[in-house]
Amino acid sequence: MRTLHDADVHEEVGNDQDNQFNRVGLGAVITGEENVEVMDTDSVLKDTQENFCLENFKKMLSDKILDVILLFRSRQNVPYSATVEFVSYMKSFTDVLVGELRSLLRDSLSDNITSALNSISTIFSSFRSEHCIRKLYEDHPQFISPQSLPLGARIENEMTSQGVIKTISRPNVAQYIPISKTLKSLLLNDPLFLSMIIESYNQQRESGIYRKFQDGSKYKSLRFQWDGKNILVFIQLYADGMGLTNPLASAATEHNSTMFYFLVNNLDPKFYGSLSNIHLVAMCNSADLKYDEGLNILLEAIVDDLLRLETDGFEINIPSRGTFQVKAVLSQFTGDNLALNQIFGLTESFAHDYFCPLCYCTREESQKYFKEKHFRCRTPESYKLDVETLLLLREDGQLHIREVKKFCILNRLKFFNIMDNWINDCMHTCLQGIIPYVCGLVLKTLISQKILDIDQINDEISKKFSRLKIDKKNKPGLIKNNGKEGLSFKMSAAQLWAFLRYFPLSFANRIPVDNQYWHLIISLSEIIDIVMAPKLSESMLCYFEVIYASFLLQFKRLYPAASLRPKMHFLVHLPTIVRKNGPMRTFWTMNFERLNGKIKAPSHIINSFRNPQLTLVFRRQCATFNKTLCLKDSVCVNSTIESYISDFLNVDMISSFFDSSAEEIVSLTDSIKINGVNYIVGLFVIVEKSDQGFNFGKI
Ligand SMILES: [Zn+2]
Repeated sequence: MRTLHDADVHEEVGNDQDNQFNRVGLGAVITGEENVEVMDTDSVLKDTQENFCLENFKKMLSDKILDVILLFRSRQNVPYSATVEFVSYMKSFTDVLVGELRSLLRDSLSDNITSALNSISTIFSSFRSEHCIRKLYEDHPQFISPQSLPLGARIENEMTSQGVIKTISRPNVAQYIPISKTLKSLLLNDPLFLSMIIESYNQQRESGIYRKFQDGSKYKSLRFQWDGKNILVFIQLYADGMGLTNPLASAATEHNSTMFYFLVNNLDPKFYGSLSNIHLVAMCNSADLKYDEGLNILLEAIVDDLLRLETDGFEINIPSRGTFQVKAVLSQFTGDNLALNQIFGLTESFAHDYFCPLCYCTREESQKYFKEKHFRCRTPESYKLDVETLLLLREDGQLHIREVKKFCILNRLKFFNIMDNWINDCMHTCLQGIIPYVCGLVLKTLISQKILDIDQINDEISKKFSRLKIDKKNKPGLIKNNGKEGLSFKMSAAQLWAFLRYFPLSFANRIPVDNQYWHLIISLSEIIDIVMAPKLSESMLCYFEVIYASFLLQFKRLYPAASLRPKMHFLVHLPTIVRKNGPMRTFWTMNFERLNGKIKAPSHIINSFRNPQLTLVFRRQCATFNKTLCLKDSVCVNSTIESYISDFLNVDMISSFFDSSAEEIVSLTDSIKINGVNYIVGLFVIVEKSDQGFNFGKI
């Protein structure tokens, strides 16, 4: 069945005459054209021999081997040495094959066949060593090599082989990929990317509806008008830390790294889930950013690149589409609260007054007031005043003013100011913050009231998830009772979210209807639904403001001794955040965290930890390069079988849908992944929306 929300994308591919690549798939049914003609073999052979071009043949062979190497290199669990061994094996294999063919054809060897066999024998020499393979990448015009960016040096003690401790200065180096280079490569090499950017300018926007960045006031303030030749790209930057080694091992934090990525806000949010739409900007050891020098050098490099992009930009020429002048602006900077505070030059503690990066609330005020209107919000002007005051008081030993520690270099950008960056990550704030905190307290109460017990909760949740299909892989872990410390939820963000979605469904019939603690969980469930919604209306934001204030009030009433966590305060800003930037889900860090997991996966097969950042960034760039060449990232099909359309019961419907005849062949699959979403036979999807509600269809 062709799924609805992806139909537009594939139609676009089909209509794009410039698309020189084969992109796989159309939902679960894939059309294919099979124009089989019976041909005379002798004439084909003659024709082939006459038209044989040795250079093309060599290139074709070389490209095929490169494809396999790229595929190996993009796999997270294959060491690089395996690629070289594979090439060596293939060389031996073809040597035997070519030798046999030479002796079989010795009486009828034409010049073309001799040249072809010689080419097959020698083609592997270009791939014979790791050095040769790397050179092929680095010399390819579409491969973007990471640059080494020195971030200063750190002093370390090292023991020599004679057992003497020596103090050495070790250079700090970040692996850096300029945004401008990646952007240029995408626009030049991916026709679909360019089409989607241009299409985004022509999309109609509904007043009072927030679905993406372009619906928010920040986009409107840029006043961009599409004129057919000037392209403006909106960059969403992300930064966060990532552990590379087992957290329980010794020196577990030694290789902790900070990752910088970007994605393009022009794309529809449904594409954000596809990891190939997230591009690496920098990776470095987190310890190198703890000092101002290292952080400033890295931010300077990013800001200089963005300044060039927002002022001069660059020109691209697409043969069939003309010349475009491309500029880009930093539209959003996202990340978890701690990482953002570090980069923005704010204090990295939330235990003080003015802990909120969006307003000037004190700890005390955050426990008493539950609506944004009760707080004075931070602005670029008030920030400027804070920085100026700090400069005056610095000599007296003042380290920060209202949590501002220093001027942030990002404010040098013309269209970006950290105090205008109204971003909060709902994954860290809600899924890993508010849900375990509130659920922990409420469950503890329900257990003490003897309404539920912990084994019963774990059993019921386990049974419920074993019957599920979509959320099966998000099955929550066991909840443990740690006595005085309360209940512990050692679960991932996705598991915590799944827990909250299914917990009320599983236990509603066992809880007295007037239990106020239970109502708190139900309210939380509704609040999280709104926070995570992919689309919000103005009226829904007004409603949220009311129910969230009432939720916090009720929480304080039921748990007067428990304080409201800083993360609970952050959500009072949700309506303004959405009005400025679109739904929180369009800039949550979940997708970036998924990419972190993918990037660090090879660290388990890397024997040397001398410079893991260089190894991992190079690997990621190889994977990106592979996808740029093949463009098969947004659709993944597990396995397919082929069938004639005429073999189906509803031939007419399928033929007319695909505009194909009944004699054409289609490929069938029972599962397909499109932009990170799995569609499996037997599941239900929304196929139509009407005034009466939604119409569902079964795949
Ligand atoms: Zn605030």
